[in-house]
Amino acid sequence: MQSPGQKPRIAEIAGVGLAGLATATAFAHQGWQVRVHERSKDLREIGAGIYLFENTLNALEELGVYDKVRNRASLRR
Ligand SMILES: Cc1cc2nc3c(=O)[nH]c(=O)nc-3n(C[C@H](O)[C@H](O)[C@H](O)COP(=O)(O)OP(=O)(O)OC[C@H]3O[C@@H](n4cnc5c(N)ncnc54)[C@H](O)[C@@H]3O)c2cc1C
Repeated sequence: MQSPGQKPRIAEIAGVGLAGLATATAFAHQGWQVRVHERSKDLREIGAGIYLFENTLNALEELGVYDKVRNRASLRR
């Protein structure tokens, strides 16, 4: 976390995939100034669904987006 009067730390992140966006969010929550770079012009929209296991759910909770994701998800047990 950034202390008062401290210069913001800067993170340059390559890629707006799940990894890049999660990393960017985590850094931003810690007070970093974040810039995400994407080399592709278009977003890829191919996929059937995303299966999330416990470690991922913990990460989403840590990022503060668990409830948002949970409310839009379907549960499979
Ligand atoms: C056809 C297909 C279907 C899939 N379907 C599913 C599915 O249904 N469910 C599922 O859970 N997973 C699916 N996956 C897997 C899923 O896409 C990956 O697990 C996930 O996207 C990985 O996230 P990532 O952030 O690591 O990488 P990516 O999503 O690949 O994101 C990396 C990004 O970084 C960018 N990049 C790379 N190098 C640079 C650079 N030097 N500078 C700037 N930008 C850069 C790339 O353009 C890309 O946008 C599928 C994959 C493919 C290929």
